[in-house]
Amino acid sequence: MVAPSAKPPARPQSPESAPTGPPSWWPDSGRDTHAVIDLDAITGNVVTIRRYVSPANVIAVVKANAYGHGAVMVADAAIAAGATTLAVATVDEGVQLREAGLQAPILVMGPAADAEYASAFRNGLIVSLAEIDQIEPATLAAVKLGTVGEVHLKIETGMNRYGAPAGQVLRVARRLDTTRQLRLGGVFTHFADADGPDLGFTAEQEARFSAILDAMIRDGIDPALTHVANSAGAIRLPSVRQVAVRLGIGLYGLAPAPDIELPHGVRPALRLRSRVAMVRQLRPGDTVSYGRTYQATGNETVALIPVGYGDGLRRAASATGWMDLAGEQAPIRGRVCMDQTVVAAPSGIRRGDPVTVIGDGSDAAQTADDLARMAGTINYEIATGIAGRVPRWYLRNGRPVALEQRGVVTRF
Ligand SMILES: *Cc1c(COP(=O)(O)O)cnc(C)c1O
Repeated sequence: MVAPSAKPPARPQSPESAPTGPPSWWPDSGRDTHAVIDLDAITGNVVTIRRYVSPANVIAVVKANAYGHGAVMVADAAIAAGATTLAVATVDEGVQLREAGLQAPILVMGPAADAEYASAFRNGLIVSLAEIDQIEPATLAAVKLGTVGEVHLKIETGMNRYGAPAGQVLRVARRLDTTRQLRLGGVFTHFADADGPDLGFTAEQEARFSAILDAMIRDGIDPALTHVANSAGAIRLPSVRQVAVRLGIGLYGLAPAPDIELPHGVRPALRLRSRVAMVRQLRPGDTVSYGRTYQATGNETVALIPVGYGDGLRRAASATGWMDLAGEQAPIRGRVCMDQTVVAAPSGIRRGDPVTVIGDGSDAAQTADDLARMAGTINYEIATGIAGRVPRWYLRNGRPVALEQRGVVTRF
């Protein structure tokens, strides 16, 4: 882990190196603090990574509200770009996508409660099973609905989270194979360390998975759609791609770990932005925000930004984070509050000026990776932490095509 730097790294900003990033459309209605999600980035990331892992298919992982990007619009874009299946963590997440009109296959990767199988099958979701005890409630739900429920068998190979232990997996597979109300549509496992420096354990997991598949096939059971790799595995290990890869963090243009390089052209889709709500002058000795952790040494102009940890700007960015104000790095002054943050203001800044709070690397703002480093966490948690109260605007060709606000998607 790299220690958070006290000062933002220098990023040259001059007219010659004008940002060449995504187009800069700004909303003229609603709350100043908002996220913009460039759907062209989602599309490009799917197309690029699909080509990269070909002939494997791409399962787009849109759990946790598509890692904070908004599940409905991201799922829509990923399927349109060629992903064959959507994956979520919970039945409820799958139902949300069905209710929004998505028709693609949807896999629920995590364990479901017995009481959720009915809702899952009624909505045509694929559930993951790992234990013999789950077969009866799942079967009952399918029988009651008069349907055949599709299931994928989740196999334990080293993560020791959700999955059928090696000693039981064939028994579960045989039971599934002979249960007419359930259809075995796939078999999968999950890597514990595909983003780590040593891929030895990942290779071991793959070998265990392959051995189990062989045993199933010898038993006359068709494993159908096999999928193993997460983003890190898909990018780093061509040999373990199976029929499909489960693409999560890479779909959003973020790297699974700081030292893993994404395929060329894959780029972050989300930026968190706001506007200056107020400009004020500090005099020597004045302090800023809770705990008075910042004290002005001279006359200083600061700007108030209506964004805080209640929006997903981590409190760990207090004093060490920075935003983009008028193309310049503006260090955070004092503590990040729940709803407001103060930054140093470059000269000439006025109320209403645009601010990038979390950038995509094409601007002068901190990125999700920068924030993760400051907070001692991973970019996954930063993206997923963009709060529900933040309106999400979706762009195509730099123009808004949809808004997600209070959980409701409006398309224009
Ligand atoms: C979240 C998740 C993924 C996606 O992982 P990334 O590292 O984001 O690509 C894949 N498979 C399972 C089982 C998961 O829970």
